[in-house]
Amino acid sequence: MPHRSSATSEPAPAPEPTGDQCDRDVAAFVAEILADAPKEPLPAPIEFLAGAEGLGIAFEPGEVERLGRFLALLLHANTRMNLTAIKDPAQAWQRHILDSLTLMAPLAELPQGAGVVDIGTGGGVPGIPLAIVRPDLRFTLLDATAKKTAFVRAALDMVGVQQATVVTARAEQAARDTQHRDTYDAAIARAVGPMATVAELVTPFVKPGGVALLIKGEKAGEELESAKAALHLLLCAHAGTIETPTGRIVVLEKLRATPKSYPRGNGEPKRKPLGRER
Ligand code: SAH
Repeated sequence: MPHRSSATSEPAPAPEPTGDQCDRDVAAFVAEILADAPKEPLPAPIEFLAGAEGLGIAFEPGEVERLGRFLALLLHANTRMNLTAIKDPAQAWQRHILDSLTLMAPLAELPQGAGVVDIGTGGGVPGIPLAIVRPDLRFTLLDATAKKTAFVRAALDMVGVQQATVVTARAEQAARDTQHRDTYDAAIARAVGPMATVAELVTPFVKPGGVALLIKGEKAGEELESAKAALHLLLCAHAGTIETPTGRIVVLEKLRATPKSYPRGNGEPKRKPLGRER
């Protein structure tokens, strides 16, 4: 047996995957899942259409179908990856689509071309439904989990949303980037954490004078109470709470640029909610 020199005949060790390589891997994983997604949109139940009408929303032709297409992709992908706990289509129309669209009223005040960032978008909620019905706004959808942002990217493409940017990053990191900090007319978030945590993650993205719109549930009032100190430190004020058919929207106004010390490092806003460290 001839001696095999490792220098000449062994294959070179595989290089560490780079960020780009990981992006390609997860994109391929998601593409494979979506390849056998149903081609038909999920039909909108009458309760959803009535709920949307109650919100004062008049859909443009094709929008309901595109919302149904997004939901079909979300529920299909959810069988192979963890995107949502809601599996029942009728419930998904209410809890994902209608709940997202409750932000239409507070977003109505934004001018054409305004920037909106969805922090912790997960499977694209509330960002994607809103991007479908407000094509005049520029949406940025951010999540820390690459598989989720790969799904969001693919779903946006498949439902024909062009005016959205997808960012894979922790909010704590992206908020330090001048491209994102103090930049957006509005930040939106659902189910990313208790008020103090989500305020610290979200408000650094908002420009002074802009708003954070947080989808919350019945405990919105109590949550606000316990986040008072946090809002003060973040130079934000509670501008109002809107009752909706699916929950409550807490509106925070950002009064001035976020102090440089916020958001704190990765995981800190969740581990030690601001104003409650002691
Ligand atoms: N907004 C979606 C997902 C909620 S789950 C919905 O309502 O269905 C919370 C999401 O926030 C997860 O996808 C998680 O990856 C993301 N997330 C949590 N903390 C984050 C952080 N610090 N930075 C970026 N994304 C974060």
